[in-house]
Amino acid sequence: YLLDRIRNFSIIAHVDHGKSTLADRLLELTGTIKRGHGQPQYLDKLQVERERGITVKAQTATMFYSHQIHGLGNNDVSEPPKFLLNLIDTPGHVDFSYEVSRSLAACQGVLLVVDAAQGVQAQTVANFYLAFESNLTIIPVINKIDQPTADPDRVKAQLKSMFDLDPSDALLTSAKTGQGLEQVLPAVIERIPPPPGDSSSPLRMLLLDSYYDEYRGVICHVAVVDGVLRKGDKFSSVATGQTYEVGDIGIMHPELTPTGILLTGQVGYIISGMRSTKEARVGDTLHHNRSIVQPLPGFKPAKHMVFSGLYPADGSDFEVLNHAIERLTCNDASVSVSKETSSALGMGFRCGFLGLLHMDVFHQRLEQEYGVHVISTVPTVPYIFEYSDGSKVEVQNPAALPSQSKQRVTACWEPTVIATIIMPSEHVGPVITLCSERRGQQLEYSFIDSQRAFMKYRLPLREIVVDFYNELKSITSGYASFDYEDSEYQQADLVKLDILLNGQPVDAMATIVHNLKAQRVGRELVEKLKNFIDRQMFEITIQAAIGAKVIARETISAMRKNVLAKCYGGDITRKRKLLEKQKEGKKRMKRVGSVDIPQEAFNELLKVS
Ligand code: GDP
Ligand code: MG
Repeated sequence: YLLDRIRNFSIIAHVDHGKSTLADRLLELTGTIKRGHGQPQYLDKLQVERERGITVKAQTATMFYSHQIHGLGNNDVSEPPKFLLNLIDTPGHVDFSYEVSRSLAACQGVLLVVDAAQGVQAQTVANFYLAFESNLTIIPVINKIDQPTADPDRVKAQLKSMFDLDPSDALLTSAKTGQGLEQVLPAVIERIPPPPGDSSSPLRMLLLDSYYDEYRGVICHVAVVDGVLRKGDKFSSVATGQTYEVGDIGIMHPELTPTGILLTGQVGYIISGMRSTKEARVGDTLHHNRSIVQPLPGFKPAKHMVFSGLYPADGSDFEVLNHAIERLTCNDASVSVSKETSSALGMGFRCGFLGLLHMDVFHQRLEQEYGVHVISTVPTVPYIFEYSDGSKVEVQNPAALPSQSKQRVTACWEPTVIATIIMPSEHVGPVITLCSERRGQQLEYSFIDSQRAFMKYRLPLREIVVDFYNELKSITSGYASFDYEDSEYQQADLVKLDILLNGQPVDAMATIVHNLKAQRVGRELVEKLKNFIDRQMFEITIQAAIGAKVIARETISAMRKNVLAKCYGGDITRKRKLLEKQKEGKKRMKRVGSVDIPQEAFNELLKVS
């Protein structure tokens, strides 16, 4: 394929505006996948993605499409030229903007999909700027025009006023009914430039993504920027200096389809005997092993915004969890993992995630794909603490902070984000209240059109990781949209809040909170726990404390009755059943000191802010 017959593009959109559906329709239209009604979206391969209807990992597919470009003087009617189109699907959720930026690195243009009824939303804004800053051609696609409430003209006006996009450039489509879809690929071919590479230069290839396949080993997705790569070629990594030989090479069509070669401008896969995805650094430049090349600009590295401890619900499952985490991180290099030990929960892991959804998805995949029951501790953001000796540490685990440390800490900093919130004008009041409760600072307040307001806030990351989005949705009847990017650290008055059961601090329940909120959070945590812990054979006291100072306390009185007493001398099968039931119940319990805590209690703690 000649370079000018190749187009690399991506679809970007606010979540649910229809990019996965549109991607599927384009794959069908080009015969890349079979037409099937009600089939799950092809590119959303993970079970969690299908269940939650969100795209987590970007996927790529190559399509072939014949198209006659008009006005090039070539009016040969016999056969229009065939184009090779690489479509890169991207996730829409805020947590995964890292995936978006890496998809865009291989593209020259994007389809910016906007729901015809909902209009421009927070992630539309974020994604637009990602594409705009990368100098990509932007083709606005107003989708879902089949909906009764669709108002494409209003959306056109928004695109004009917010992004200065020409209304006449917008394509109107329905990925559901198929209306307007025939204009999409011609627009891709005519408006998006071919990749800029040079086929006679030494090979330079961008490593886009990698995953581990049970049978085939590490599979790398690559974009060939300059030069050509063939089966049997040796290549090296700029990042690691390692050399590999290409065993298999080809395109995603959409399954792996060997071609023996990848040319300049192509996006495809290579399998080369790498043993772990740790060797495949996303954003790395690959080159022929003796040539010297200028490395390609890498990606913004994934930043871990949320940390949580993951422990096997049953201590003996540690090895199972270990194995599962190893395998999963093979496919999701954006999770950081280190071993940690908790006196309450035993051996486990401290994991860093891009955000709360990312954490949830990882947790869910561990349970679904590997069958391990996992307890996760209260999520925390990375704080910085400075001690009187001048040393500074990044705290990823509140338990690691000594409880009586108040005297020794001289200053603390917390990470902040710049949040974009778009909402119908009538909800502005409650949103402002929410943001100030969350210690936000308003940076911008304007209107997109007569019905929609746009706000920017600086918010402490801590205040948005816990339940901010749900709260925002509920006070705006689901109409607000939200996106954020990380920003600088700010100084804050932070304290460690301990939870004590019968006087013993439970390290896995410790949190770091703002001093002004400590009282309320402590109260809420203690009440939550009281509701979740069953009465046991002895009295249980639950306390929240800052250092030696107890700020909240509850008591659960002892249970008297003996489960077995009732059927003493009675029916033996009934007795056995009861014992089994009790054992079942225990499985989901975690014994901390002498107190049994149900797994849900840990999950509930996540929701207190
Ligand atoms: P994504 O989150 O942007 O990938 O969105 P999806 O492709 O998963 O679509 C979200 C929802 O919108 C799904 O229920 C789709 O069936 C639906 N949808 C997508 N395109 C259209 C459309 O053109 N019209 C209508 N009415 N629904 C659509
Ligand atoms: Mg999707």
